Amino acid sequence: MNRITLLGATGSIGASTLDVVARHPERFGLYAVTASRSVEALVGICARFRPRVAVIADEARLASLSDALRVAGLPTVARAGSQALAEVACAPECDTVVAAIVGAAGLVPTIAAARAGKRVLLANKESIVCAGRLLIEAVRAGGGQLLPVDSEHSAIHQCLAGARLAERDVRRLILTASGGPFRTRSDFAGITPEEACAHPNWVMGRKISVDSATLMNKGLEVIEASWLFGFAAGRIEVVVHPQSVIHSMVEFVDGSVVAQLGTPDMRTPIAYALSYPERIDSGSATLDFTQLGALSFEAPDLRRFRCLALAFAALAGGTGRTATLNAANEIAVEAFLGGRLQFVDIARVIEETLNAVDADEPDSVEAVLDIDARARRVAMRCVERRAIATLNAVAS
Ligand code: NDP
Repeated sequence: MNRITLLGATGSIGASTLDVVARHPERFGLYAVTASRSVEALVGICARFRPRVAVIADEARLASLSDALRVAGLPTVARAGSQALAEVACAPECDTVVAAIVGAAGLVPTIAAARAGKRVLLANKESIVCAGRLLIEAVRAGGGQLLPVDSEHSAIHQCLAGARLAERDVRRLILTASGGPFRTRSDFAGITPEEACAHPNWVMGRKISVDSATLMNKGLEVIEASWLFGFAAGRIEVVVHPQSVIHSMVEFVDGSVVAQLGTPDMRTPIAYALSYPERIDSGSATLDFTQLGALSFEAPDLRRFRCLALAFAALAGGTGRTATLNAANEIAVEAFLGGRLQFVDIARVIEETLNAVDADEPDSVEAVLDIDARARRVAMRCVERRAIATLNAVAS
């Protein structure tokens, strides 16, 4: 039995993971599940999957989690706080950790899991963007394994299977991008959070949905691919493929291009990572080629989608830059979703933050957290300045 700690169990990736786990009760069981604040949803998961431990990150909600578990007659132990998150990620009772917390908040438990030699299934791309080298080193030191959950990286992992030496045999990695809801929109003024979260192909959490709309998601994925597969930015390309049928490709030096295809359903890459190197049923629909129609491709428009260009530039500048980029993006997206920042200003806040924060290459998790905190403070000030400017413009 493969015992799983599911970090971010109440989210979109959490739900897809639980669906795959439920299909294979003989193979997988849950050791621990975690959430940030969603007590009710977490208790619902406990009732269904009976994990040993449930962790709520918000310590103020520990009492309500304990009470709800007791009232439901469940044996699950309630815990709270960041220390508890890290502990369930490295507990000897679990074999696999699904890192599906959103944002840099997932960094510490993900690193803890890696250091403890777990099989880490990485959805939380922000942690590798913030601390690429440290995470890779932690996996090596722990002797475990890091497997991608992101559909693009899962695709590349599958395309590289059988490659003798990726560094020598591969010409380039080609990440596909759907282009998001604004692929054909020329004017970004007045975009609402609801419009930005209405992704044409995928149903996801709100933060990654906005990242997909700005193409920052693809930028984060380029950085993630660089660390996961050991490729410099110059050998990673992004191509817009609106149908999201090809999840990514690898071009080899002999000119062969290998692609991985499938319906846009996160249960496929989750099942792949959970069962690797075997294959199991994920519940996803069969790809019906006769109904597909044309598959199209175009270059990303870096002028309209500045975030992608900023991410490429940050990758070239090192982890201090990518951690700054990530923190600024998290602040800007949160402000946009909260109605305090215009969609068009997300890239501006990130650029201003990158210009203002001086960050060396971090050599420890503490150094990453310090860069993250400094960048957040700067980004918040940028958001405030932009909010005041918008109010003044409306008033005059
Ligand atoms: P959701 O917003 O749907 O879920 C996020 C999860 O993380 C929830 O369980 C949430 O708990 C928890 N959480 C949020 N903040 C904190 C915190 N500060 N501390 C601890 N836990 C926290 O996100 P997604 O599932 O969409 O995405 C999760 C990660 O996977 C992201 O990094 C995303 O980029 C990546 N990803 C997602 C894909 C998708 O299809 N959704 C595809 C590929 C990658 P609560 O419910 O209490 O808020």
